[in-house]
Amino acid sequence: MVLFLGTICPSPSLSCFALYRRQILRKSSAISVPRNGFSPFRRIFQASLQSNSTNEDAGLQLPADLSEIIFMGTGTSEGVPRVSCLTNPLKTCPVCSKAVEPGSSITVPSDGFLPLGICLFVTSCISVRIRTLDAVIITHSHADAIGGLDDLRDWTNNVQPYIPIYVAQRDFEVMKKTHYYLVDTSAVLPGAAVSELQFNIIHEEPFVVHDLKFTPLPVWHGRDYRSLGFRFGNICYISDVSGIPEETYPLLKGCEVLILDALRPDRSSSTHFGLPRALEEVRKIQPKRTLFTGMMHLMDHEKVNDYLKKLMETEGLDVQLSYDGLRIPAG
Ligand SMILES: [Zn+2]
Ligand SMILES: [Zn+2]
Repeated sequence: MVLFLGTICPSPSLSCFALYRRQILRKSSAISVPRNGFSPFRRIFQASLQSNSTNEDAGLQLPADLSEIIFMGTGTSEGVPRVSCLTNPLKTCPVCSKAVEPGSSITVPSDGFLPLGICLFVTSCISVRIRTLDAVIITHSHADAIGGLDDLRDWTNNVQPYIPIYVAQRDFEVMKKTHYYLVDTSAVLPGAAVSELQFNIIHEEPFVVHDLKFTPLPVWHGRDYRSLGFRFGNICYISDVSGIPEETYPLLKGCEVLILDALRPDRSSSTHFGLPRALEEVRKIQPKRTLFTGMMHLMDHEKVNDYLKKLMETEGLDVQLSYDGLRIPAG
């Protein structure tokens, strides 16, 4: 079983990751959620529970009953590298230039199109051989977070009948406008192929997807705009955040692995943590290990990681930038 965590973008997913549960993986990929039924589930966690990943190339061999998280799309939605940087004759952006070098570990374009127009969400799924998707959990309904819903049609046209989507009511209301043809398929012309999605409304309370409990982590993602992070086990995932409400901190207690938004190295934006603020939160939350995600091209992967490594020596902080293809045990 594989869970996608993050956001499904029009081409890629914003800092999403797949959570494999190999124990389940060997059983069945069937999803027994009533089609078009609405459950009390809510949430932002985009996860696809995949039943048969064939990729073993990451070198991390886990026991059959151990889950693993695969990071897919760890860059910001504008993409890394940027087209504008790669086409700039002055080549002023070393990060984007380095990202397209063969063998680069910084190829973290997440939500944007690759320069060739390749959809990153899809290509990420190809790279880790995601055959089936058991669920997608939505963090929020910004365009770069849900645009990829259309990309799910390859699965529902050719692999499985439908995909359950877990989404908060407020975000579902947005989808009714942006993706009306997926919410009400009666508007689709006969013969036209669109994603077959089964929407489940979630609330800011724990919910269960395939025996895995998710606890929503409400956060601010810009002024007066709510986004959701998710906790499952002792792993907390917060991909789009500019502020953490006081009431959310207790939900982060005992967090062992924190996956946290860190857009740029110098400062926060109105909607995202920058590295300094993200580190402040790490010091406050005190997870055992932190992996940052959602980085833009101003983040030089090696340089920033070197800086972060020093924090282990000086403060005992285990913090690093994540990267596409990174796999970590999930439990
Ligand atoms: Zn650049
Ligand atoms: Zn957003």
